[in-house]
Amino acid sequence: MPDPILFRRVHGSCHCGNIRFTFDWPVPHGAIPARACGCRHCTKHRGVWSSHPDGRFHLIIADQSKVNLYRFGTKTADFHVCSTCGVVPIVSCTIEGARYAVLNVNTFDDVDKSQLIETAANFEGETTENRLARRRRNWTPEAVTSQAGEMNRDRPPPGSPG
Ligand SMILES: [Zn+2]
Repeated sequence: MPDPILFRRVHGSCHCGNIRFTFDWPVPHGAIPARACGCRHCTKHRGVWSSHPDGRFHLIIADQSKVNLYRFGTKTADFHVCSTCGVVPIVSCTIEGARYAVLNVNTFDDVDKSQLIETAANFEGETTENRLARRRRNWTPEAVTSQAGEMNRDRPPPGSPG
């Protein structure tokens, strides 16, 4: 049996709280790397993103009618823009029926800034095929719904400190 992965549960939200997420980071201690995307949209929004392929995210939206899904460029990613407060906490991409996401570290509610290691990233010029393959490799998969149909939103994964 491999050692169970220890998760660190991060909470994030837009300013008004309409869009909330949990992000289970599969390393219990230490810094969280983040990518300051250099595209025009992320520069304007100060979008700095984190993801981990062994992590999980769970998205909780109070009122879907107050979320704009903004697409540009290759139109393969949905920027979830809160139409009440304008914050963009999450970008998701659906690949073969499964949703993957990056989370905006500037919307984390319980991570000290000193624990974030920010590096610049620029994906301009990447083909759509390579872009989707990279997201599938690097982005965070969505937490799956249990067979009973209940979301594990309040229960950390096994091994989590809580
Ligand atoms: Zn909001």
